[in-house]
Amino acid sequence: MTQIQSTKQHILVVEDETDICELLQYVLEREGFQVTCVNNGMEALELAGNKAFTLAVLDIMLPGMDGLTLCRKLRENQATRRMPIVMLTARSEESDVVVGLEVGADDYLTKPFSPKELVARIRAVLRRVNDRDADGPAATLTKPVQAQDPGMVTLGQVAIDPTRHTVKVRDVAVQLTLAEFKLLALLMSRPGRVFSRDQILEQISGSDVYVIDRNVDVHIRAIRKKFGDDAEFIQTVRGVGYKCLEA
Ligand code: CA
Repeated sequence: MTQIQSTKQHILVVEDETDICELLQYVLEREGFQVTCVNNGMEALELAGNKAFTLAVLDIMLPGMDGLTLCRKLRENQATRRMPIVMLTARSEESDVVVGLEVGADDYLTKPFSPKELVARIRAVLRRVNDRDADGPAATLTKPVQAQDPGMVTLGQVAIDPTRHTVKVRDVAVQLTLAEFKLLALLMSRPGRVFSRDQILEQISGSDVYVIDRNVDVHIRAIRKKFGDDAEFIQTVRGVGYKCLEA
């Protein structure tokens, strides 16, 4: 028991609302995590720079330095650059979430959230990070699972070859339009990560593609239709955008 305790995963919680801190501490400790709560960004920066945490949960609304700035600073610091971060936001506004993801958060939760969901998200992020690190030192943040065929990237039943512009579902070739292909490639470049419609649109309407329909939902529907029974490979995240399933 004592040995297990010494290797406990340690979570840093940055939140100025005492009752939420206490709730998070209670829930996470019950799940076997060690938890340290601080109520401001400066303290969090200092702590995280001196000690390795397994993951940080950052509230966006903080006195002084807000959670987004804190997240950006943690990403800039060599010591905390790779620490997984889950953001908490009181607002479900897309802009907050998107900015959060853009400054390097791995996931986000909108208040009020269920403790069960928070734990599930934390575990999912940690799984993702472990898979990423298991790929070895050469792996980058965005490196998806590599299949046998060099250049081919496989996630679950879906395989994509970005250089040959081919897609296979359960080993059967699927014909996608260039816009659909780019959209899928974007989602598959960061499995489990949510992309907003604006981010997707920006990606698929690059200079070499003439996007006739700027409605991202239409392209998503088209891909899902072509994927048939595997349509759920692309998931809708209500109010935010889309993501693809992790392997
Ligand atoms: Ca707060």
